[in-house]
Amino acid sequence: MGRSSEHQRVQREGKKRDYETCCVCGNKEKPEGHHVIDYQYGGAATLDNIVTLCQKCHKQVHRGNIDLIKF
Ligand SMILES: [Zn+2]
Repeated sequence: MGRSSEHQRVQREGKKRDYETCCVCGNKEKPEGHHVIDYQYGGAATLDNIVTLCQKCHKQVHRGNIDLIKF
């Protein structure tokens, strides 16, 4: 699936851009790329749509406890 491999590539680039550091809390452990707008909802595979989050913050975002629009 070309589309999903493109998203994986952008996630890697996003982590590099963010120095592998969580954008929310500054944690450097196990950073993960997160799509601000999920590509299922029309989010693009671009760096603008990627933030780097640690596992803890990533979970909070998906639970709706952190609003990424602020970041
Ligand atoms: Zn974090």
